[in-house]
Amino acid sequence: MKRKKIPDEAVRRLPIYLRGLLSLSEQGYENISSKKLADFVGVNHSQIRKDLSYFGGFGTPGIGYNTENLRRQIRKILKLSMVHKAALVGVGNLGLAVLRYPRFGIFGFHIVAAFDNNPKKIGRRVGNITIEDVSNLKALQQRKIKIGIITVPCEAAQETFDKLVAAGIKGILSFSPCYKKGRKKVKVITIDIAMDLARLPYYIATRPTTRLAKRGR
Ligand code: NAD
Repeated sequence: MKRKKIPDEAVRRLPIYLRGLLSLSEQGYENISSKKLADFVGVNHSQIRKDLSYFGGFGTPGIGYNTENLRRQIRKILKLSMVHKAALVGVGNLGLAVLRYPRFGIFGFHIVAAFDNNPKKIGRRVGNITIEDVSNLKALQQRKIKIGIITVPCEAAQETFDKLVAAGIKGILSFSPCYKKGRKKVKVITIDIAMDLARLPYYIATRPTTRLAKRGR
């Protein structure tokens, strides 16, 4: 049977729904309508229904979605029900902040190794992780680490990317957009804060002026 092509955008929104469902569960909601979820996460409710329909729907007419069940289903679709081990390369300003962030675990991610090429940093501890020499990257496969996080400067990004691919990494989250080759070999998600910031003035400029601001208060 031919598999239905699921748009990347629908997959991109699933974690947004999951995070919303977690908060709604914490607030005591057992069942929610797509409208309630839509208002909570800021996505149109027909979009939510369409996205979920790619995977089977999961709602009951008149009741909506059972929050616990929908959370379980989305985790299953995203393969988040298992633990994912990740390695980070480049323990500078950004790398340290990512390493110290405590909440990746709620999605099943654990950064279990960190690498750098600065001899002054190698051997230092960040939480319960000891920073290793980047030459140890080769052993990632034996350590069953399949996800790599790149937080090195631009000029070191391609080399780091190649090393991670050679070490058997299957998915890369990169904070550096500075590499070109080899993207087809692994799934790469690039986070480019500058690109997102560059869109913001457009939205600020096209927002309607509030009445208070108009009155000059
Ligand atoms: P940084 O200079 O503070 O840290 C980079 C780290 O990478 C250092 O510890 C350095 O020793 C290490 N490194 C350099 N070459 C290496 C190599 N070949 N192998 C292993 N480790 C190596 O840089 P930063 O500010 O943390 O930024 C890191 C990346 O994130 C850059 O590509 C930057 O463009 C991007 N970024 C940073 C920010 C930010 O707010 N700091 C925001 C957006 C994007």
